[in-house]
Amino acid sequence: MVVQLGKHKALPLLWIVETKMRKRVYIANTGGTIGMKRTPNGYAPEPGYLAEQMAQIPALQSPHMPEYRLHEYDPLLDSANMTPQDWLKIAQDIADHYDDFDGFVILHGTDTMAYTASALPFMLDGLKKPVILTGSQIPLCEVRNDARENLITAMVLAANYPIPEVCLYFGDKLLRGCRTVKVNANGFDAFDSPNFPPLGKVGIDIALNWRAIRPLPAHTTPLTIHPLNGNCIGAFRLFPGISADMVRHVLQAPLKALVLEAFGVGNGPAHDQAFIAALKEANERGVIIVDCTQCLSGSVDLNDYATGASLAAAGVISGYDLTVEAALAKLFYLLSQDLPTETVKLLMQTDLKGELTRS
Ligand code: ASP
Repeated sequence: MVVQLGKHKALPLLWIVETKMRKRVYIANTGGTIGMKRTPNGYAPEPGYLAEQMAQIPALQSPHMPEYRLHEYDPLLDSANMTPQDWLKIAQDIADHYDDFDGFVILHGTDTMAYTASALPFMLDGLKKPVILTGSQIPLCEVRNDARENLITAMVLAANYPIPEVCLYFGDKLLRGCRTVKVNANGFDAFDSPNFPPLGKVGIDIALNWRAIRPLPAHTTPLTIHPLNGNCIGAFRLFPGISADMVRHVLQAPLKALVLEAFGVGNGPAHDQAFIAALKEANERGVIIVDCTQCLSGSVDLNDYATGASLAAAGVISGYDLTVEAALAKLFYLLSQDLPTETVKLLMQTDLKGELTRS
């Protein structure tokens, strides 16, 4: 069947329908390996280079692929240079284009991708469209790379699947953003969400785990951005022989909150009275201390051992199975809300965006 368009050429109806139905994806290129160019000094970002590379991929012009708009950030960043202000820039960019696109792909360096993926769910309230972060270990310009598959699948996911979440796609896994950690510095399987099942596995088929994916927010409130202000927040890893003095220094003002990376189920050197006193004194000054485990998976339980109970008695709160990345992001978010300290403590221990499991 054909449709006559006045004096213009007749077009097949199917073509018109397909054209109208092509989904639209907004791609924000923040930097990272995926779009870098080989230079005499090693890989480096170069403005316009990724667009050139993408224009040479025939698959991206296929009618089965979504239309896309590529927006390149200035400057393109190695994600090791990112700050919470860059998270805000990404959140704002998504909000500015929210109504015009079916989904969003954020191209990002792998080094701090898990932090950005942990922060965006808190910053983007009322999200009903997919936001997929991805990147690669080898740039798109190389013949053998993981960039092409990560990019194409992230675009397909963002365009065609109604996932109302911030996710990270890498390797062959779709993961909840606020559960992710970078687990491999070199491998193509660089990310995992050790305390939460993948939201999807990509092989011959794209198999989504709809039971794990968050439901569409029922309310009709529009997308709202929660900016982050510059609160002083830290993370500190315990180790055998840690000096109480060092802990006391870390906990000094202007620190407002600390993620304490503790042993096993959240234990610390409770025999060291000066260490416990440093925690207690900071807690009494209103510093929020969140206990997360150093282990890759599992949950904190401060009631299991006396070495954990002493920390709780000093005012340390449990981070349960929060990743350190998610605990930091959540603290940035909550401390930007001007809430009483006790409310922040309570919300840190409450699941807000699927970041924490509490039975
Ligand atoms: N240093 C790079 C970055 O995080 C590494 C990467 O993209 O994989 O930006």
